[in-house]
Amino acid sequence: MISILDINIKNKILLIRSDLNVPIDQYGNISSDIRIQLSLPTIKYALEKNAKIIISSHLGRPNEGEYNPQYSLKNIAIYLEKILKRKVILKKDYLNNKLIFKKNEIILLENVRFNLGEKNNDEILSKKYASLCDVFVMDAFATSHRIHASTYGVIHFAKQSCAGLLLINEINHLKKFLKKPKKPLISIVGGAKISTKFNVLNKLANLSDKVIVGGGIANTILSLNNDIGNSLYESNAIHLAKKLIQKYKNIIVPVDCRVSESLSNDSLVKIKKVNNILKNEKILDIGDETIKIIVQQLQKAATILWNGPVGVFEFKKFRKGTEAIINTIISNNNIFSIIGGGDTLAAVNLFHALNKISYISTGGGAFLKFIEGNTLPVISILENNT
Ligand code: AMP
Repeated sequence: MISILDINIKNKILLIRSDLNVPIDQYGNISSDIRIQLSLPTIKYALEKNAKIIISSHLGRPNEGEYNPQYSLKNIAIYLEKILKRKVILKKDYLNNKLIFKKNEIILLENVRFNLGEKNNDEILSKKYASLCDVFVMDAFATSHRIHASTYGVIHFAKQSCAGLLLINEINHLKKFLKKPKKPLISIVGGAKISTKFNVLNKLANLSDKVIVGGGIANTILSLNNDIGNSLYESNAIHLAKKLIQKYKNIIVPVDCRVSESLSNDSLVKIKKVNNILKNEKILDIGDETIKIIVQQLQKAATILWNGPVGVFEFKKFRKGTEAIINTIISNNNIFSIIGGGDTLAAVNLFHALNKISYISTGGGAFLKFIEGNTLPVISILENNT
């Protein structure tokens, strides 16, 4: 794969496809800037080399073909301007007008998902993106599983395409992990749905010494032998839970949990054994006995891979399990820790522990797909584009 480091970009116009899809709160503040921070090395390198820089990204899931201020990159332009100490011009009308560069200015294209045809990889749109630049730089690892016009189609038509530093870094780290993880390897897979993580659970169960499950995934497994009351689970994926548990003997399932009848910051919380849950109760976090078991396992690990919180960490009363995992990881400098997925990053960020994680992947879906062993479409087209 051609890297941005391999080509002469001096004075060339670069279109850098970053993934600046960061959470923005109701006041317009960026609540976690990790994806922006990790996108900076490519942008800074291009600045050092005196390239003319255009950056593109998506933000959220707006209706295609419609401008919606809620999904504008306006706040991201302001943010980039502050950290790069350069003027960052947000351009709305870039598909029909020639872009004019002024000295020391960076152009940020408005949300690519406002463009009709973005998500179905429209050829005309892909050509338009390609026509904006001399070199297309793909740096959005977190979007590299998507065949979209701004990530994939554009590569067909750009004069030259290459991978940015973030993308190369992600591929190198994740490949290295898959090839030879330092053992013992303990994986943690939490989150809502077993169906979306079934393939990665299989892969990790094969690769890891132990796989710890939590969240809705654990609930669906627990529902095989227990009444789990009103908890989140997938009734149409019970067969997947059964398959996993029958096939792998190294999956650790909660033995107790924090339950409540409601989900709020004032919820009345009880800790219960998993076989003692009432009809109107929901499992919202793991219990103390399970925390103890998990912590003991994690303390033995040389490598920990984590995707998905083990409870509804967004609420104070249901983040004890997730917090215990974070504390165990960060209290041992000898553990090589890899995390991926928006919610996992948000949870670790909540405890100000991101800087203590050995490797943070910016990918959610792309991270899972890569770990599963899939070839991601954008990576594959870049690899064949030499
Ligand atoms: P995912 O995108 O599949 O990783 O799911 C992440 C979401 O799962 C987070 O928003 C968590 O709040 C949620 N979650 C974790 N544990 C539970 C649980 N026991 N019940 C309901 N939601 C959960």
